[in-house]
Amino acid sequence: MNCIFCKISKKEIPAFIIDESDNFIAFLDIHPHAPGHSVVIPKNHYENFFDLSEALGNEFISFVKQCVNLLSKKLQTNSFTFGVNQGEIAGQTIKHFHFHIIPRFPNDKGGSIHSVVYNPPQESVEEIFNLIKK
Ligand code: 5GP
Ligand code: ZN
Repeated sequence: MNCIFCKISKKEIPAFIIDESDNFIAFLDIHPHAPGHSVVIPKNHYENFFDLSEALGNEFISFVKQCVNLLSKKLQTNSFTFGVNQGEIAGQTIKHFHFHIIPRFPNDKGGSIHSVVYNPPQESVEEIFNLIKK
């Protein structure tokens, strides 16, 4: 499979790896939106987070925490934006699950998670609730 993130995890192409465990690797994004902008990936190829097993999913959360602690300490910030672009419409360009960690700093010209999309429904919140739950 011609997957750039598989190549990074197998060390076939270089990356600035900030942390690594048996099953995960975190490295600096090649086009950083902030100092320390990193991506965390499973070493094996999974397209989406939901393809990971329960156990691997839990391990992933612990590994992300470890990376965030490192970035927080070294870059002196407690603010972060975390994100996953899942699927083409959401902007996923590489079909190997990856989790963005974006350290945030004062006046960094960024927005909150609300700035990612603005598509308020025509229906009321209650109608949407009924669609989901009934
Ligand atoms: P996506 O848009 O799919 O959520 O994010 C993919 C991310 O991977 C982008 O932010 C992009 O800059 C980063 N990226 C793409 N190719 C490479 C690469 O070869 N090395 C590194 N370090 N990052 C990459
Ligand atoms: Zn891959």
